[in-house]
Amino acid sequence: MSSNRRNFIKTGGLVLTGIVAGAHMVSGFVPTHSAIIAGGEGDYTLPALGYAYDALEPHIDARTMEIHHTKHHQAYISKLNAAIAKEPELKTKSLDQLLASLKTLPESVRNDIRNHGGGHWNHRFFWTVIGPGNTMPSEKLMAGIINDFGSMEAFKEQFEKKSMSVFGSGWCWLIADAKGKLMISTTSNQDNPLMDIVETKGKPILALDVWEHAYYLNYQNKRADYLKAFWHIVNWQSVNEKFES
Ligand code: MN
Repeated sequence: MSSNRRNFIKTGGLVLTGIVAGAHMVSGFVPTHSAIIAGGEGDYTLPALGYAYDALEPHIDARTMEIHHTKHHQAYISKLNAAIAKEPELKTKSLDQLLASLKTLPESVRNDIRNHGGGHWNHRFFWTVIGPGNTMPSEKLMAGIINDFGSMEAFKEQFEKKSMSVFGSGWCWLIADAKGKLMISTTSNQDNPLMDIVETKGKPILALDVWEHAYYLNYQNKRADYLKAFWHIVNWQSVNEKFES
């Protein structure tokens, strides 16, 4: 890569597009999400994390973050794009819409959109609810947590217990129903609470990736230690916004 392009990436990350996809690997930091969130306007691309791969150490190591972002997340995106290329009329729908209507999608792509569309949605969301900042739950979120779980400690305990109960690969979620009531749910593989096929639906507020690829390098089989570490890297600012929006 030329030094001009490198300088461009460092100073002009706001216009990051597919042309310089992978720029985060050069600098380790680029400004966060721009127009990548919504579907329906072409191919999906890997969003920048908004923080460096080593920013979450010692809780999540840089190597895990880099592989998770550039290999695992990118693979979901590539396979999602391949699926949508088979049924181009689906490009008019947002990813949220696709996941909420899996039952009615063409059978030829239904599983790929479930697995890889879910994989893209879940990781894109996950990167925003973790981060290096020292943040706190808002008064409003704390009130919700106390109302629905009894206390922050009780919430964390239940969230860890549910996360431990995921057999194999999956996710643990804090979700809100239409009235704002908070619940914890889990999903298998890359399913999520937006999907029409899952048992417990809701608006995701917080998520934890409990696939082994999210923690194995640092924690091996010790998922419980990864769960304890998770509380140090929750971006409560982002979680507050999701709850209050
Ligand atoms: Mn993952």
